[in-house]
Amino acid sequence: MKRTGIFFTYFQGERLRDFPEALDGLLNKANVFYYDAVYRSRAGLFYLEPATEQLLVKVHSRKMIEAVKGTGHYESALYSAGGTVQAADEIFRGKIDNAFVFTSFGDHHAGRDFYGGMCYFNGAALAIAMLKEKGVKRFAIVDTDSHHGDGTRSIFRRDVSVLHTCFCDQDYSDRYHKIDVHIPDCTTDEEYLSKMNQTFRPAAEGFGPEYIFWEYGYDATSGDYGDKGITRDCHIRLAEFLKGTADEVCRGRLIAILCGGARRDTATYTIPRIIATLAEQKGGFEHA
Ligand SMILES: [Zn+2]
Ligand SMILES: [Zn+2]
Repeated sequence: MKRTGIFFTYFQGERLRDFPEALDGLLNKANVFYYDAVYRSRAGLFYLEPATEQLLVKVHSRKMIEAVKGTGHYESALYSAGGTVQAADEIFRGKIDNAFVFTSFGDHHAGRDFYGGMCYFNGAALAIAMLKEKGVKRFAIVDTDSHHGDGTRSIFRRDVSVLHTCFCDQDYSDRYHKIDVHIPDCTTDEEYLSKMNQTFRPAAEGFGPEYIFWEYGYDATSGDYGDKGITRDCHIRLAEFLKGTADEVCRGRLIAILCGGARRDTATYTIPRIIATLAEQKGGFEHA
């Protein structure tokens, strides 16, 4: 059974209104570890630490960091990115095997010198910068948000140590291990999963990452703002697939990071099931 870390932060917005209560069926499991940035008074928890400015400057320009301070979202952006950094560190130190990271602000539209689309700091890029200093050499980022991960792509454009596979509206691949898989405006779960199987699986097997970061955006679900026609169950199947891939190629080291998606019902349905999949604790959720 995998040891799964949940890194929880929630500052604003509608979509996470049902959390952390919606995790109740998971938090009592012996192999699930809860790191909380919000409810620090609760007993028996680990704390989620914000990202440090010392680490931020390894990925983002000082000018951009100063600009984020002016948005009023600096603190929640630090906690959002900090969850991914801490998850990667806990996995590195052998405390947990995989993780799900809640965020108030996502990663993938945040580049070295720009931010946008509700993404301020790039948590996956910060975690990779931290892991590189510890000697980790190869990383995969798989992005199933509906939109192109332009920030992540710009940070790692010529970095051959990072396989970046992005499911979006582009079709692209290059010798730097950067891949875009075109998802049409109206697709099906079967077609989406088959593309994942045909592209990311062989790419990851050939590349041999030591960690897989999953930018989990659910905005491609029917009825959300990046609607591509997939159902909410597609995300659970993606979680099963990516967990299986991580188990095969990198000893299960998978970090799922909440990215785009606005619907509260989709978050409440998918996130506990994804975490249950990571923790191999699916029993309690199949009929919930
Ligand atoms: Zn998106
Ligand atoms: Zn893309």
